[in-house]
Amino acid sequence: MSKLDEIIEGWRNNLFPPLEKKEIIKTISEERMKICNECPFISTKHSSIRPDVHCTKCGCTLAAKTKSLNSACPEKKWEAVTE
Ligand code: SF4
Repeated sequence: MSKLDEIIEGWRNNLFPPLEKKEIIKTISEERMKICNECPFISTKHSSIRPDVHCTKCGCTLAAKTKSLNSACPEKKWEAVTE
């Protein structure tokens, strides 16, 4: 899957999650966000003009990235989930 496909998957799952995957997306996103919240690269630990909570390593908005099942953390702190 290309990076663009991962971004589209993340935003689709954030805004319009498929009904049959809604619960697993929510669970995985919450687990990943727990890790991100402790990570030194999360934007909340830096000064940024961007209003969204994002990863300063890859630049992705975390509300969407953590919901892209095919995406992985750039620091290998969480992995992609093979469907
Ligand atoms: S995606 Fe990875 S590197 Fe980025 S904030 Fe989350 S845990 Fe940190």
